[in-house]
Formats: sequence, structure tokens, C-alpha cells
Amino acid sequence: MSLANGRPYLAIPGPSVMPERVLAAMHRAAPNIYAGPLHDMVATLWPDLRALARTRHHVAIYIGNGHAAWEAANSNLFSRGDKALVLVTGQFGIGWASAARGLGIEAQQLVFPKQTPVDAMRVTMALAADPDHRIKAVLVTHVDTGSTVRNDIAAVRAAIDAAGHPALLAVDAIASLGCDRFEMDGWGVDVMIAASQKGLMVPPGLAFVWLSEKALAACAKSDLRTPYWDWTPRVQGTEFWQLFCGTAPTHHLFGLREALDMIAEEGLEAIWARHATLARAVWAAFDAWSAEGPIRLTVADPDHRGHSVTGAQLGAPYGSELRHWCETTAGLTLGIGLGMAPPDDPAWHGFIRVAHMGHVNAHMVLGTLSTIEAGLRALHIPRGAGALEAAAAVVAGA
Ligand SMILES: *Cc1c(COP(=O)(O)O)cnc(C)c1O
Repeated sequence: MSLANGRPYLAIPGPSVMPERVLAAMHRAAPNIYAGPLHDMVATLWPDLRALARTRHHVAIYIGNGHAAWEAANSNLFSRGDKALVLVTGQFGIGWASAARGLGIEAQQLVFPKQTPVDAMRVTMALAADPDHRIKAVLVTHVDTGSTVRNDIAAVRAAIDAAGHPALLAVDAIASLGCDRFEMDGWGVDVMIAASQKGLMVPPGLAFVWLSEKALAACAKSDLRTPYWDWTPRVQGTEFWQLFCGTAPTHHLFGLREALDMIAEEGLEAIWARHATLARAVWAAFDAWSAEGPIRLTVADPDHRGHSVTGAQLGAPYGSELRHWCETTAGLTLGIGLGMAPPDDPAWHGFIRVAHMGHVNAHMVLGTLSTIEAGLRALHIPRGAGALEAAAAVVAGA
């Protein structure tokens, strides 16, 4: 007998759950790329993508994943030998910095503990120590998907301004866009990147860069900008093919159109509120589990946690054992503890992450938590009681 047969549920932080509506919208014959419905549909994407980022400025779409978005930002913002100040609050800050180094950019990392957000004072000090303005941009992750820390982006902007430094502010919102509040213009962000497979509910394959007028002006001077990555034709091109530097990602774009319709129907504020409440349900369960035994949430302060993914440590080997049990016995796949310990270190087996990102509702989250409860029980992992009641109380609004 298996209890895993039935619809499997992938609760990892990307790719996220793909709505049937999005998949159905992609299921079609190849469209004409030279004229007609594809062109008409793509024209409707731009205003909705701007609204999603809360910006009046530009957006470019690439065929690529999150790493492609990093490269798009790096190659337009910098010239060889320029400096980037990278604020690291987990695995993805390290990733963006190494992507920059690979292009010949000098990436200065400010590393913060994995449990806490960026300390704005250290950002101001690092910029004050750069009187020649070799730092062209500050790179920061909004929600680091590894540590699950959420940074206060307006505070980073204020830290740059406090130093009187002209560096642009570039934000990786891949794990948070469409889940956590994001106000590109309101927070003074110059560049924001995202990818299709997280809060946007579309299969992996589209990368997005939103950019301010200042960022567009900066790219004119960048000598790392190559024809494929160059923002200019993608945001100012007059021919359809220029927008995608060749063949458009036709089916992904139809999927994106459907996802943006779903977002508009629910409303961005309501989507943020749904993610906030579901996150609180997950945290309430973990708070109860951690009352006894080794289970701990990675980020102690709820104000510093992302709303799309929750990280916890159970202690090795409990994390890996629980993930294995949930997948093989119950059809639930949980996330690994990305970047929390080296993969060859036994401590690596102590972590899990639970995604609650995108097309996720209360019954999915409660089912996930109940399955974790069953796994903790089956594996005799020490824990406090009352987790499911606590999560249900959040959902019930009690
Ligand atoms: C997922 C993710 C990435 C990387 O995306 P890929 O599509 O795997 O290249 C980068 N940054 C953040 C914050 C992410 O969540």
C-alpha cells in the first residue's frame, strides 16, 4: 500500500505550483510570430508587468531563468573593473556576486548573519569608504530563498542616500514578487529582477528586468553590455523581434498572460494578504513544534521573514529523513536547506524549507503542515504539541 498515490504536491520554492489555467493557456498550436494575435497579446503584457512591480518605468523580458536575470542586470549596469556592493543575507546574494565576478566585475560582499536582514548602517559605511564612486550599484536580495530572510528595501535606499553615493539600487525579487509587497518606485529601486517560476506561477523559462530611467541611462555607458543582454532594444525596440532578440517565448507568454489575469482578478493587495496569512499559519505550527525539542525557525523575528517560503532546522539527520518520509509516504516534496550548511557536511541534513508561494491556498498549507506532523510522529522527532490547532486558528482568523 502507498499513501503517496494521488496528486503530488511540490512545496519547494520554485518551480511553484502551476495553475491549470496557466497550463491550459499554453496548450495551443504554434502562433504566427510575425503578426496577429501574439503581437496583440504581448502589447497587453507591459502595463500589467509595470503594475505588478509598482513602477511607471521599463520592463524587459528574457528567455531564461533567474540566473539569466542576474546576468542581464550585471551586464547592463557595469563595465569591466567596476565595483558592485553585494549585500548577502543567504545563498542568493552569494550567487549574484559570483555571477558578477564571472563577468569581470569586482564584487565586494557585505555578509550578514543568515538569520537577520541587512544592517543599513554597514551599507552606508561601505559606500562612504568609496569616495571615487567605483561602486556603480548595490545588489540586494529582497527575500533570500535559502535563508528566507526578507530585507527592508526602502531602508537600503535610505542607507545609499545617507552616504550621498550615486550607486544605483538593484534588487533580486525572484522569490518575493507576487507574494510579498514590492514597491519599485516608492522604494527608490533602479533595477528589479524576477523569474516566471515562483510567485508568477508560470513554468521556468522567463526572466524579467524592470528598470528606471537612471538605469537605462547607465546602461549606455556599460562595456559589458552585449547585443543579446542589452536592455535598449528590449525596452525601446520598434520591431517585435527586437523585444525578445529573436523568436519570442510564445507559449510562456500566453501562460504569463493568464497568470497576470489571475493576479488582476484577485488583486495584488489581496494576494499579499493571502501570503501573509498563510505564512503566519506555517509559523504558528513551527512555533508549537519548537516549544519542545530541536525544531527552530531559521529567522527568529517574524518581521524579517519572507511570506513565500519558510526555513527551519530540525537537526541532522531529521531534516532529510522528514523530507524523504513526506515525499515517499505522502506525496509531498519539501525544500532542502539551501546554503545553510555545505552539502558534504552532515549538518546539511538538518534543514527543510516549506514553500507557500504563488498558487497556494489554505487547504494546501494545512495539508502540508498535517503531513509534516505525521512525518514527525512517524520518525519520532521530538516536538511540541498543538501545531495543527495553532495553524487552523490562524486560518480561522481566531
Ligand atoms: C530561484 C532564485 C534565483 C535563481 O533562479 P534560477 O531560475 O534557479 O536561476 C535567484 N534568486 C532568488 C532570490 C531565487 O529565489
